[in-house]
Amino acid sequence: MTPLTRPYNFAAGPATLPQAVLEQAAAELLDWQGRGVSVMEMSHRSEAFEGILADCEARLRRVLAVPSDFAVLFMQGGAQAQNALVPLNLARARPVAVAVTGLWSAKSLAEAARYTNACACADTRPACTQWPSPAGWALPAGAAYVQICANETVHGVEAPLHAWPDLAALGSDAALVVDASSNILTHSVPWPRVGLLYACAQKNLGIAGLTLVFVRRSLLGQAAPACPTVFNYTDAAANRSMTNTPPTYAIYLAGLTLAWLEREGGLAQMAERAQARSSTVYAAIDTSGGFYRSAVEPGARSRINVPFTLATPELTTRFLDAATAAGLLNLKGHKAVGGVRASLYNAMPLAGAQALVAHMQQFARSHG
Ligand SMILES: *Cc1c(COP(=O)(O)O)cnc(C)c1O
Repeated sequence: MTPLTRPYNFAAGPATLPQAVLEQAAAELLDWQGRGVSVMEMSHRSEAFEGILADCEARLRRVLAVPSDFAVLFMQGGAQAQNALVPLNLARARPVAVAVTGLWSAKSLAEAARYTNACACADTRPACTQWPSPAGWALPAGAAYVQICANETVHGVEAPLHAWPDLAALGSDAALVVDASSNILTHSVPWPRVGLLYACAQKNLGIAGLTLVFVRRSLLGQAAPACPTVFNYTDAAANRSMTNTPPTYAIYLAGLTLAWLEREGGLAQMAERAQARSSTVYAAIDTSGGFYRSAVEPGARSRINVPFTLATPELTTRFLDAATAAGLLNLKGHKAVGGVRASLYNAMPLAGAQALVAHMQQFARSHG
């Protein structure tokens, strides 16, 4: 079989998958490991699927070094459902706070406010180009949790790992809640600081339909009575994510993606690659003589989503059309910020970032 050459897909999510994962899924599509059925056709209670789920959880725990006092939940509803499910499961009618650093954390705050008393403990709007130092946050007394977005996928702002707040050291007994949808599996997680971390799967670990929730077991058992049964973390933990039918095929694909990640060298390798890909693109921006511009403060630049603008905005459409013609797909920026956005998830090879840089340089030469 001749290997298929595919274009580079810079989509923000759903996003590019490792080709090896797609090939394995294709090879197993009609008959999973001699069972005569596709994973899509299996009962979630079958011994075969139980094995797929257990394997996926074991890989997650191994790759991310998840402590045993955390439950791993395989949920539905996407990352945005968690904006409601976190307060419904954890708020206990106490205040909560969200550090607003971009579009996604702003949505988290607005949704939490529907369920409990929610405030912004930091707010970098309207620019959203920096990571505010936690030392200056206004933490409400008696807060149940404080939420951050580890990587603002739209604004391209990423919390440096050392700047994930240590709430205990800041004098708060609130739990830290982290939306890691777009940078999970790109660096290690400082678990001692974390109460709950969630991520949708369609950026770095497979396809839409699955949301992972890692929750400290001591936070279970306090859901509001109005919390839907199928979204109750305590029930999900007790039923091993089988309160109802879990997103079986998405869990299978997450398992394949994690197996690929382990074959490729694990989390340390993913962190190194994220650094290499993003610094290649930032270097092209910074050495373009102002032709390309990044608005984000250098210390808060995301290693995963790189938004940038052209000094001559009228050229943006031409840049994007030429990129598509060159096999560089889905580089249009989010409508909230415009311009260009290169999403560089784990499945994007360094060669993809280099091809983008070559295109940027050629375009600047012919339009500069
Ligand atoms: C993509 C994304 C979301 C939304 O995910 P859905 O699964 O579409 O709800 C939320 N937060 C962040 C940080 C994201 O990148």
